[in-house]
Amino acid sequence: MSFRVGLGHDTHRLIAGRPLILGGVRIEHDLGLDGHSDADVLLHAITDALLGAAGLGDIGELFPNTDPQWHNADSALFVREAQRRLTELGWTIVNLDCTIHAERPTLSAHKPAIAARVAELLGLDRSQVNVKAKTGEKVGPIGRQEAINADAVVLIERSDDPCWK
Ligand code: MG
Repeated sequence: MSFRVGLGHDTHRLIAGRPLILGGVRIEHDLGLDGHSDADVLLHAITDALLGAAGLGDIGELFPNTDPQWHNADSALFVREAQRRLTELGWTIVNLDCTIHAERPTLSAHKPAIAARVAELLGLDRSQVNVKAKTGEKVGPIGRQEAINADAVVLIERSDDPCWK
């Protein structure tokens, strides 16, 4: 087998009047994330981790935020398209680990639902997906509740069968 690792990171600003969607899960909060699409910071980080692992560039190349077709788009589209491209090249996901950085809302109660939704989107077993949450310790843009960040790391594998070379 061959293995590759991919890293993703994303930031979106918190503003009033937008829904807060993390990992495909709508979370009740007085602020939401600003962005061209649904601004799902976690799914964007996961999309970049997947693309990065397979050497396929980044989310901005595939889904430019200047393209009107992605206005308010469900970010599930991005993560699924990234996975489709990996699958086409023979890659499968071994595991995915993520961290969401948010001062508020408190995400501990939401982590299981987020991990379950991410696993569902990617057709993975729940045991292959881990979601962590951290605050910003009241400092910086996260701590001041100006933004939410997400990090994702993914391991992918494929057989060394010559058809993939
Ligand atoms: Mg983004």
